[in-house]
Amino acid sequence: MKVVFLGTGTSHGIPAIGCNCAVCRSTNTRNKRRRTSLYVRVNDQHIVIDTPPDFRDQVLTYGLTRVDRVLITHPHADHIFGFDDLRRFSYMQAMSIPVHGSPATIKELQQKFHYVTEDSIWRASVPRATFQPMTHVETWAGVEIEPVPAPHGPMQVYGYILRCGGRSIGYLPDCSAMDDALMARWQGLDVMVLDALRHKPHPTHLSLTEAIEALQHIRPRRGYLTHLCHDLEHETVNAALPTGIQVAYDGLTLEW
Ligand SMILES: [Zn+2]
Ligand SMILES: [Zn+2]
Ligand SMILES: [Zn+2]
Repeated sequence: MKVVFLGTGTSHGIPAIGCNCAVCRSTNTRNKRRRTSLYVRVNDQHIVIDTPPDFRDQVLTYGLTRVDRVLITHPHADHIFGFDDLRRFSYMQAMSIPVHGSPATIKELQQKFHYVTEDSIWRASVPRATFQPMTHVETWAGVEIEPVPAPHGPMQVYGYILRCGGRSIGYLPDCSAMDDALMARWQGLDVMVLDALRHKPHPTHLSLTEAIEALQHIRPRRGYLTHLCHDLEHETVNAALPTGIQVAYDGLTLEW
């Protein structure tokens, strides 16, 4: 299994437009964060979780040449507004790309990107996608994908667990609370990636402390924090984390 963090920043990205704070002015590339997205290559399948506004730049920067399947966590702007750039992949691969999400997410994608399934003389200029709502574990091309509903403030999002050949990863970039029942869903993973927005509590995201507590309870072999805002300086936060937990950064690649 190979994983590349395409983006690890909160909705405004880092640097934030017009901000002069130390993190936004930092020259350390680990403090530069595009909006959150993950690429997973497993069993010769190329899977992308979320298509943020930075998607084209992420694809070019990290050299993605194929996308077989897309999983969407939820339809917030920072997770979907690079969706149209899937068109190069559907064109190059001469296929309609399967896109999965909760029934509510798929409904919203169908409204926002209605043109991808409509007949049009501009067929070559739009992505071809097949929207497929999912509600339970499904296996495609030997990769088991489990959607895990989680609270994100008042809305429900999906996190995803991908399993193949005894390897596993859990991904939940936007989440506001982890109760015992939810934490039980993520047990036994090689890697778990979790939302950690900032130090201060937030109504729709886990704080750094809440994310660390949840990961210590879930006990993946390796835990990574994502969806950070500019309150968190990479090196400072990373140096103070418990063993087995690290701050993810754009371009971080895991292979096991
Ligand atoms: Zn988000
Ligand atoms: Zn800033
Ligand atoms: Zn969100």
